[in-house]
Amino acid sequence: MFLEVFNQKIKEFDNEISLFIKREDMIHPFISGNKYRKLKYNLIRAKEEDQTALLTFGGAFSNHIAAVAFAGKEYGFKTIGVIRGEELSLKVNENPTLLFAQQNGMQFYFETRENYRNKDSDAYKNTLKSLFDNFYLIPEGGTNALAIQGCKEILTEEDNAFDYICCSVGTGGTISGLINASSKHQKVIGFPALEGGFLNDDIRKFTQNINWELIEDYTFGGYAKTTNELIDFMNSFYDSTKVPLDPVYTGKMMFGIDDLIKKNYFPNGSKILAIHTGGLQGISGMNVKLENRKLQKIKFDG
Ligand SMILES: *Cc1c(COP(=O)(O)O)cnc(C)c1O
Repeated sequence: MFLEVFNQKIKEFDNEISLFIKREDMIHPFISGNKYRKLKYNLIRAKEEDQTALLTFGGAFSNHIAAVAFAGKEYGFKTIGVIRGEELSLKVNENPTLLFAQQNGMQFYFETRENYRNKDSDAYKNTLKSLFDNFYLIPEGGTNALAIQGCKEILTEEDNAFDYICCSVGTGGTISGLINASSKHQKVIGFPALEGGFLNDDIRKFTQNINWELIEDYTFGGYAKTTNELIDFMNSFYDSTKVPLDPVYTGKMMFGIDDLIKKNYFPNGSKILAIHTGGLQGISGMNVKLENRKLQKIKFDG
């Protein structure tokens, strides 16, 4: 079931900059990349607490929702997904992510955007408790202290040879684990997939280290938004490397790295390791959207 993660060489650039990608997308066919890392210690804790159900939150393309549904089935938990947007309740069959989660036994609770915004309040948690009894709560995107412990395991000893570690950022959990696992001589660079100035503070809650930076120039207009330029880049990257990227996270990160190399952001001779955090399950849903708008689709044979 578990595949092997390896560092794949992407390219050697003119100024002796070398770029490698860590294929965390290969870790598991369904619980891909960082979502597996983030769930690992949470699943162990839930078992220790004798919990029988996992409850979590997510939107229409959520890799986390797909991962929790599958992990729940694999490890013997009921799963409940609180889904952002009540209109989606009628569209499950058109949404590959939700359909996958449902087929893996997840029970949905569709919530209005307004109520969803309050999902972290005590009042809302009490509402959920009255609806579903006992459950082990996993926050949106899976980020908590146990998730960060799991994400530390992404980096290995041999990765010490790299000068830069790059990753995509949603809630900041993954990058926090990477920062905590990195060495002082390394710099960790995060590429947020969404707008918003709250991320720096969120990351500081989970790490004391200061060898990191967020570069917010590659959000492409916001979460799950794409442009033709981004899709062009992802498709030519796929043609030349056979590495598929996802449109929400890793595509934006790789576009950013490529652009920064062209702009001489990295000193000559830099060794860069980009983390492929997975998310490939989201491609088919995005392609449905792109096709409806008669836009270019993302190439992917998987
Ligand atoms: C969820 C996700 C991220 C963001 O991870 P955070 O820990 O929320 O910052 C990045 N890449 C992929 C593919 C993801 O699914």
